[in-house]
Amino acid sequence: MIKIKNIHKSFRTKEKVLHALQGIDLHIKQGKVFGIIGRSGAGKSTLIRMINLLERPDQGEVLIDGTDITQLKTEELRQLRHKIGMVFQHFNLLESRTVLDNVMFPLRVAGAPADQRKARALELLKLVGLSDHVHKYPRQLSGGQKQRVGIARALSTEPKILLCDEATSALDPETTQSVLALLNEINKTLGITIVLITHSMDVVRNLCDEVAIIDGGKIVEQGDVVSVFLHPQHATTKALLSESG
Ligand code: ATP
Ligand code: MG
Repeated sequence: MIKIKNIHKSFRTKEKVLHALQGIDLHIKQGKVFGIIGRSGAGKSTLIRMINLLERPDQGEVLIDGTDITQLKTEELRQLRHKIGMVFQHFNLLESRTVLDNVMFPLRVAGAPADQRKARALELLKLVGLSDHVHKYPRQLSGGQKQRVGIARALSTEPKILLCDEATSALDPETTQSVLALLNEINKTLGITIVLITHSMDVVRNLCDEVAIIDGGKIVEQGDVVSVFLHPQHATTKALLSESG
């Protein structure tokens, strides 16, 4: 279970201070698919990066299974990060490494023995449908295949939580569907909690159990997808829904 309590985050640039997150509270239940939507610049990426502390809050708590991770020491945080996988919009693969090496990489960092790393990576590449591509390099793959590698890599350390920041935004509609189906399968069969940012209301409708709408660094509405989409309360939610048709 993920609980975010009164998170604030500001970015200081030369000209000004930008208050990117302005008192965010979120409760993400174990085993759910939780969507975060909002306009460009609303604070979505900053928020999701709080969950693995890629970004540190200025104020507030990030509780994972009851532990405030902002208080963890470096080594404890390193351990915790193995339990939280992340999938990126632009895949972020190591271009000079094979598919297999990319998936084994986090396991090497985690100190897993070599034979276990390979067996685990091969098993995951089978799960994501890439058994025939393990010795290829990222440049030899399609966008959808690259994202499958990204997902397999994120799952390598057996995380309980998977964070997806616009994981399908760089993909065509058909490929998007197959990657979403894979995420759904991962959630349903492995019971992994998924937090995903998307610009697509269809993705939220088809995949998410709950959704939060963020606007100007604040959550303006949240709840289960069916009720929020049927009875949107906030103007931003209404606008996002009507724009999506
Ligand atoms: P998008 O949909 O375009 O990805 P987003 O909702 O993910 O947008 P964020 O990336 O979280 O938005 O950014 C929120 C605000 O914080 C933006 O105004 C952005 O310019 C600013 N911001 C984010 N990261 C930094 C940073 N490292 N330094 C300065 N400003 C930042
Ligand atoms: Mg973003």
